[in-house]
Amino acid sequence: MNPFSYERATSSDAAIHGVSLGAKFIGGGTNLVDLMRYDVEHPSKLIDVNHLHLDQVTRLPNGGVRIGASVRNSDLANHELIRTHYPLLSEALLNGASPQLRNMATTAGNLMQRTRCYYFMDTAFPACNKRNPGSGCAAIEGMNRIHAILGASSSCIATNPSDMSVALAALEATIHVEGENGKREIAIADFHLLPGDTPQIETTLKPGELITAVDLPAPRYSRNYHYLKVRDRQSYAFALVSVASALELDGNTIKSARLALGGVAAKPWRSPEAEDSLKGATAGREAFRKAAELALTGAKPQKDNAFKIELAKQSIVYSLTLAQQRQGAQA
Ligand SMILES: Cc1cc2nc3c(=O)[nH]c(=O)nc-3n(C[C@H](O)[C@H](O)[C@H](O)COP(=O)(O)OP(=O)(O)OC[C@H]3O[C@@H](n4cnc5c(N)ncnc54)[C@H](O)[C@@H]3O)c2cc1C
Ligand code: SF4
Repeated sequence: MNPFSYERATSSDAAIHGVSLGAKFIGGGTNLVDLMRYDVEHPSKLIDVNHLHLDQVTRLPNGGVRIGASVRNSDLANHELIRTHYPLLSEALLNGASPQLRNMATTAGNLMQRTRCYYFMDTAFPACNKRNPGSGCAAIEGMNRIHAILGASSSCIATNPSDMSVALAALEATIHVEGENGKREIAIADFHLLPGDTPQIETTLKPGELITAVDLPAPRYSRNYHYLKVRDRQSYAFALVSVASALELDGNTIKSARLALGGVAAKPWRSPEAEDSLKGATAGREAFRKAAELALTGAKPQKDNAFKIELAKQSIVYSLTLAQQRQGAQA
């Protein structure tokens, strides 16, 4: 591990002004410190952002909620407001990592966690455009069973590993950030980037910007929801494919639907076409399969992961079916 300095920020202003070239914010450290140990990340300075009083979940006047950037994943999953009004988010969080990791991991850190591509995490492989821009991509010709089937490029086929972000995408969260040039908001759909020619640029967060909060709009999907995570082991494993499903039902008619996929692209994957096809349809296998086909339009397998395309389709149908069956549960 390279030498680095450490500073504990006591206000957002101090954190933002303390951040310099080569510095990084640290939340729970569950991703950043691992990557420092693996020699993938080498910040010259760590700015601890755990003492900025960004650890509350509060109701907003518009009926939504604000989640502070430092709220721990376990606290968020178990928070009364989230369990009652945004149970899809609770379910996604509880599918992530392990209880110990969730006790440390923060909302902002989870949004910013980096890919689990083996070749990115292992510096014994020099070719990785994300770790070392211009060096190539070891995964394209290598073992790519876990890699992307949607939105990949010839520079990078990595996926985003976050479960929380998939639910936040389905719920249309907004991310609040602050930097030297003031505050701004970023829709979750615009936060994570597809790789294109610059896979090392993973989000639209500008260098030195601090995430302060995540807002959720007024709840709409607290009755019929489901988060499905398909993985190699039941615990402690990242998603091969995950599906966040949310339905607003009037009897058997779908008034609106949200569908987001994880494990398939460099960002949570939403398909407006799939969601539109569900709107007004009768909830059931036929509508769900049609949405699944639309959601996977344009999917391109790598040599080892063609199975993910049908797996994703079947996962969508199953998750939507379970979301439909949940009617009558928590309102
Ligand atoms: C064994 C293992 C299994 C896991 N399994 C899963 C899983 O199944 N699903 C899943 O979703 N995740 C999983 N994780 C990942 C875990 O959820 C993330 O490591 C965690 O969410 C990161 O949060 P953190 O607060 O620890 O971030 P940190 O490690 O502190 O930081 C991560 C990144 O966020 C940046 N950052 C932190 N705070 C801010 C801020 N306020 N503003 C701007 N940037 C900031 C840091 O600079 C860094 O780049 C697993 C991790 C491990 C080690
Ligand atoms: S898929 Fe992306 S992260 Fe993985 S080796 Fe290729 S460039 Fe690196």
